[in-house]
Amino acid sequence: MDHGKTTLVEAITGVWAARHSEELRRGVTIKLGYADAAIYKCPNCEEPECYCTSPKCPVCGSEAEFQRAVSFVDAPGHEILMTTMLSGAAVMDGAILVIAADEPCPQPQTREHLAAITIIGLEKLIIVQNKIDLVTREDAIKNYNEIRRFVSGTIAEEAPIIPVSAQHRVNIDLLLEAMEKYLPTPKRDPTKPPRMYIVRSFDVNRPGTPIEELEGGVIGGSIIQGKFRVGDEIEIKPGLPVRERNRLRMYPLHTEIKSLHAGGGPVEEALPGGLVGVGTFLDPALTKSDGLVGSIAGKPGTLPPVFSDLTLEVSLFETVVGTEDLRKVEGITKGENLLLNVGTARTMATVTAISRGAIETKLSIPVCCEEGSRVAISRRIGGRWRLIGYGIVE
Ligand code: ZN
Repeated sequence: MDHGKTTLVEAITGVWAARHSEELRRGVTIKLGYADAAIYKCPNCEEPECYCTSPKCPVCGSEAEFQRAVSFVDAPGHEILMTTMLSGAAVMDGAILVIAADEPCPQPQTREHLAAITIIGLEKLIIVQNKIDLVTREDAIKNYNEIRRFVSGTIAEEAPIIPVSAQHRVNIDLLLEAMEKYLPTPKRDPTKPPRMYIVRSFDVNRPGTPIEELEGGVIGGSIIQGKFRVGDEIEIKPGLPVRERNRLRMYPLHTEIKSLHAGGGPVEEALPGGLVGVGTFLDPALTKSDGLVGSIAGKPGTLPPVFSDLTLEVSLFETVVGTEDLRKVEGITKGENLLLNVGTARTMATVTAISRGAIETKLSIPVCCEEGSRVAISRRIGGRWRLIGYGIVE
């Protein structure tokens, strides 16, 4: 069941992008599913026609004014999106719930999306009623009323419903207008200690580059708070995994920010929102092949502790995410192996104890996280890891 989410993001972002560091953009886009767009407003056209995603108004040809840059987190599968959302690995300031007009509402995945939005408390919300080109006017109204009934009494009760055909680029201007009105850019506190989830890390050097010409390791990810500047000292935790005898030991890394890439190119400082590439002085051997994915970068001494055991207050979904047959989620049992996503880290966890509403787990790979962090919990079902709920770190 495709509600047309990807087509919608393409309809908005299609003309933009391509100015990024290509490898970082492609790589991180695939991992977290980010896509960037810029919203412009034509000074000579009426609302909503004045909203567009190009610096030249497509209606009258005048020069349009830049409003702001927006990044979409559009993961390829809803299961991955849910996991990303629940693990807190992406900064999300608002949500666009896409519902297809040519199916009865709610479909199971629409229920799941609304559940995820509710769990992470995203109150800034727009509902897109997509594929209006595929239904009659009467059916579109019937579907609209179904949506209204479905969201009644939920976090989405007050959300505007924008009818759109992403395929035919109909009402995209109306959606951009709604984004400007209902998804305001939140005020952020730049004085908080900076923190970035590492989503990718790599070595940008070609094989055979002489040592004196080697570029330091590059890390890419999303900043969740504070700001990073070129020249800042950073610490990376848990850092480098090294197997010593029978246990995995993590070595935190220290380096300095050599360069920053955000939005369209090099910048002197970077803030939350979108993706950031950080050039460092680290040995590229440490960052190659996503070696540092799952770690957090921040100001030395300010990062949260590293845990090998986690106690989680657990909330399970009613049904497993991603299976066709609405399979019921059974309770977690002692000794069970689960997959946890904590920020961008993935680790296996063995359940060592269960008490009312909480589980104690032993992790195969230590993670750096804070008390109160959200953790996505998956269980192996039918040969695949399936999202069954989330936990809060106690
Ligand atoms: Zn215009």
